[in-house]
Amino acid sequence: MIIDAHIHLPVVKKGFTFEKAKNKLLSDMKKNKVDYAIIIPDNIHGSAIGDLDVSLKLIENERRLFLLGTIDIRIERKEWINKLDSLFQKGKIKGIKIFPGHDPIYPTDKRLIPVYKLCIKHDYPIVIHTGWSSNHSEAAKYNNPKYIIKIAKKFPKLKIIIAHYFWPEVEYCYKITRGFKNIYFDTSALADDEVIEETGLDKIKKVLEQSIKDNSESVLFGTDYAMCDIKKHIKLINSLKISKEDREKVFWENADKLFKLKMREYR
Ligand SMILES: [Zn+2]
Repeated sequence: MIIDAHIHLPVVKKGFTFEKAKNKLLSDMKKNKVDYAIIIPDNIHGSAIGDLDVSLKLIENERRLFLLGTIDIRIERKEWINKLDSLFQKGKIKGIKIFPGHDPIYPTDKRLIPVYKLCIKHDYPIVIHTGWSSNHSEAAKYNNPKYIIKIAKKFPKLKIIIAHYFWPEVEYCYKITRGFKNIYFDTSALADDEVIEETGLDKIKKVLEQSIKDNSESVLFGTDYAMCDIKKHIKLINSLKISKEDREKVFWENADKLFKLKMREYR
C-alpha cells in the first residue's frame, strides 16, 4: 500500500475544472499504485490549485482522498480557527499546513500559537513548508529549522512534519532536528530535478536513511504532485538502503498512524 502524504491538485487553468483536476489526480494515483493521498489546499482564497472550501466540496465521498486545513495568519484569526476546529471535530481535515516562506512569516510568529494548540487539542500534525521555493532561495530564511525546533521544544505534544527537508540544506536540517521525537519529515519534492541538482542525490538519500535509522517512524512518503512526479519519488524511496519493514513504514504506515487514517484497521 502507498499513501502520498503531500499532494496538491493540478493547476486549474482555462478550459479545466476542479472536477477534471481531481479526476486527473485519481488517474495518476492509480497509474502509480498510490492507494490514498492527502491533499493540501492553498491558503490563498480562489487559488488555481484549490483553496480549503473548494477542496472540501471536491473530496466529499472520495474514499481515497483526505485533506489538510490551511491558514494565512496575516488575514485569518479567531473565526477561521473556529472553522478549523469544527472541521477537525467532523473528521474533515487531518492536520494543518502552514507556509512560512510563501508567506513572510516565521514558525515562531505568536499568531500561530492558536493553530499549534488546535493541532495538539485534536492530536493531528502541523505540516510546515521549508526550503527554497523554485528560483527563490530567499524564502528559506523564514522556514529555517532553527525556528522549528523552538516550537518543538515549546510544544512537546505538537507533532511537526517538515516538508521538503529544508532543501538544499538537508544535512543542516538533519543535524539541528536530530533527537526531537515530535519532528517528522515528508519526502515531497526531494526527487524533483531542480531539488536534486541543488542538493545532491547522495546527500538526500543519506539524510533520509539516517533519519529512518534514528527513528523509523519519522519519514513519510510524499511527492508534491502535481508540481512533482510521483514515479520519481517512489523510485527514490525504493533506492534507499533500508529494511523491508522500514520501507513499508515510509510508504504508508507512518502516515497512517500520524494522520490517524485507520487504514490498518480496514485491511
Ligand atoms: Zn507542497
